[in-house]
Amino acid sequence: MATVELDSINKVYDNGFHAIHDLDLEIQDKEFLVLVGPSGCGKSTALRMIAGLESITGGEMKIGEKVVNDVEPKDRDIAMVFQNYALYPHMSVYDNIGFALKLAKVPKEEIDQRVRKAAEILELTANLDRKPGQLSGGQRQRVAMGRAIVRQPAAFLMDEPLSNLDAKLRVQMRAEIAALQRELGVTTVYVTHDQIEAMTMGDRVAVLKDGYLQQVDTPQNLYDRPANVFVAAFIGSPSMNLFEATLSIDGDAGSIRLGSLTVPLSASSLQQRPSLRNYDGKKIVLGIRPEDYEDAEFDKDGHPTIQAKVTLLEALGSEIMVHFGIDAPTVDSGDPDAVDETGGGANAVGRFNPRSRVKPGEMATIAISTENLHFFDFGTRRAIG
Ligand code: ATP
Repeated sequence: MATVELDSINKVYDNGFHAIHDLDLEIQDKEFLVLVGPSGCGKSTALRMIAGLESITGGEMKIGEKVVNDVEPKDRDIAMVFQNYALYPHMSVYDNIGFALKLAKVPKEEIDQRVRKAAEILELTANLDRKPGQLSGGQRQRVAMGRAIVRQPAAFLMDEPLSNLDAKLRVQMRAEIAALQRELGVTTVYVTHDQIEAMTMGDRVAVLKDGYLQQVDTPQNLYDRPANVFVAAFIGSPSMNLFEATLSIDGDAGSIRLGSLTVPLSASSLQQRPSLRNYDGKKIVLGIRPEDYEDAEFDKDGHPTIQAKVTLLEALGSEIMVHFGIDAPTVDSGDPDAVDETGGGANAVGRFNPRSRVKPGEMATIAISTENLHFFDFGTRRAIG
């Protein structure tokens, strides 16, 4: 059993910079938890505190029920995989994988057994005599994993282990690492800034911003029920479209004013979020995922429609990204790394059926799946529940 518990953990660096604020996280035994967030949000700091490579300036940290605040890294029973792999260039793959065991004075025969077993799992058996310089990026990454595996630790801590690989290899390795973690059943904390990596690998994902935990949940719940505007925009690609809008509620019905457009509020939206009633006549942030827009011609469910001018198309084969203009102010998500994904002066992007015949420069009739809209308080930017 190895749980990792962070109870109100804080990090204030020597220069006074407060990098982590009251972080509460309970990572379950065998769980794969991903820490994700934009550059500088504090994810590496949090991981390094779990590893013992960074001091904890407030709160309590437990690994496997034992308080480890003042325990040396080597005594924490964790194995860390870094983004630069930290392999010894002059040592063979065999010696790299077995190095920690040798230091721990594990008998030679047992080292041999454990190294060969790890190599077999990672398909490195044919490369055991090579030096890291003679391996591909993916193989080096596997050696780094091998070094973690042979230790049979209570927890794996991984800091952007795939960031030095090319795009294709990343996709392959992320599937391999996720499968391996499940096979070995070792509690894992994995840091990345890549939301796709987070979503595809994690049992749960913790989203950090500016040293504050925004939300921790399963990938699907983060996507379907983001707690605030930041999470809503950070998770999903292209990002959720965010607009200033005004609600108007009338009995069991209502509408959303979006610039010069009016979109009816679905009855289910009001039923699922009773507190929307408190926002009658008020400004809110309205969120629409790209897949909740569709060329009206392909909308089988007769959703409400709007008219908008198309500016740009990106045909991806299985779908077409349609950029269009909505006459309403957009809302900034607060992600410092966010790039504007809309093109041609547009402020909205929809994921349409690839057979859509909408054209740049022309008006299009666009259906909106109003039952899937997201609503946030304009002041606090939190989801209206
Ligand atoms: P990245 O994805 O860019 O690695 P991160 O989310 O892992 O970012 P951290 O490396 O944890 O971020 O850094 C969090 C914040 O703490 C940043 O603002 C960083 O500048 C600051 N920081 C990191 N190390 C120190 C240090 N030794 N002294 C002072 N501030 C630091």
